[in-house]
Amino acid sequence: MKTNYLRVDPSCPDHVLIAEAAEVIKQGGLVAFPTETVYGLGADGLNSEAVNKIFQAKGRPLANPLILHVASLVQARALAASWPSAADALAKRFLPGPLTLILPRSEVVPDLVTAGLPNVAIRYPANKIALALIKASGVPIAAPSANLSGRPSPTLPEHVLDDLGGKIELILDGGPAEVGVESTILSLAGDNPVLLRPGGVTKEELEEALKEEVIVPGTVLHPEKSPGVEAVPCPGLYFKHYAPQAQVIMVTGDPREQVTKVKEYLARHSGRRVGILATSENYPSYRDLGVSAVYLADLGSGCHPEEIANHLFSAFRECDVAGAEVILVETVAPEGVGLAVMNRLCRAADQHEI
Ligand code: AMP
Ligand code: MG
Repeated sequence: MKTNYLRVDPSCPDHVLIAEAAEVIKQGGLVAFPTETVYGLGADGLNSEAVNKIFQAKGRPLANPLILHVASLVQARALAASWPSAADALAKRFLPGPLTLILPRSEVVPDLVTAGLPNVAIRYPANKIALALIKASGVPIAAPSANLSGRPSPTLPEHVLDDLGGKIELILDGGPAEVGVESTILSLAGDNPVLLRPGGVTKEELEEALKEEVIVPGTVLHPEKSPGVEAVPCPGLYFKHYAPQAQVIMVTGDPREQVTKVKEYLARHSGRRVGILATSENYPSYRDLGVSAVYLADLGSGCHPEEIANHLFSAFRECDVAGAEVILVETVAPEGVGLAVMNRLCRAADQHEI
């Protein structure tokens, strides 16, 4: 299949280009589009045949449900069997934005979207291209991240082309994604709010808006404790994910210790092709002291984990392009957006640490 590629102005999307993309969705095809978090791979969320194509193109297990993207709260409510006051409080504060709510599903939602679960994931993104596409399509758009299953999520349209070129009808190029990690997923389907996936909206912000504690399952930072795909409320979180081809090793400890550990590792494995993903604070220690790595990146400040979130996935992909066998990634405190960064690292690293 030929994949068309359209460049769209993210601040003022052209109606004609959006109408072309919406036509693909209405015809049951696949369109990759930018959101504020990462690029999504979209299909008509109420058409099971179209939704099935998403699983095929990505090689995604059918047991991993999809998020439905909407362009208004009215459209969001129609997908849920009930809408608690907590959803209103969160919508008021964070939507449109990088927050996905899990709620009991209404009967319009196809089984394939929820992988047969009783709940549905709903997201109202804050990206003009995404919103224009959803509106013009007239349906909620089912969209996982637009990467091959298991690979790092795409933060640039080129990443989508690398993974899905020839497999989907259209890519809308709206430039780099702003947040760089996927949305926060919060379940409001049980008695207490549960943070299923940390993201751009932090646990601390959610608790402030809800005025109650948000439960963080231990598996967010310890995926090896997963009780198994069948037994969990958010199946996708337990598949290996976000991973580059190279082995990812997390470098722990305070910033100075991390530099020492990286240097020791390089001395011990001199034949290996190593990529180093460093915080801005430690980056000069590697560059100025002539540490040899096939790839060295400044991910951003350890004190501003949102900078790291923004660069992490594209740095993973660049390490692969540079032919790294191992990637040493410096770690940050699991607070604020740092929790999202550490969650993605734990998943990609399969818990290898130094
Ligand atoms: P992705 O679309 O690749 O960002 O992944 C979507 C994530 O949302 C996966 O981890 C899914 O398991 C999760 N998800 C989607 N729908 C549901 C649902 N109905 N209940 C719980 N988790 C869900
Ligand atoms: Mg994904």
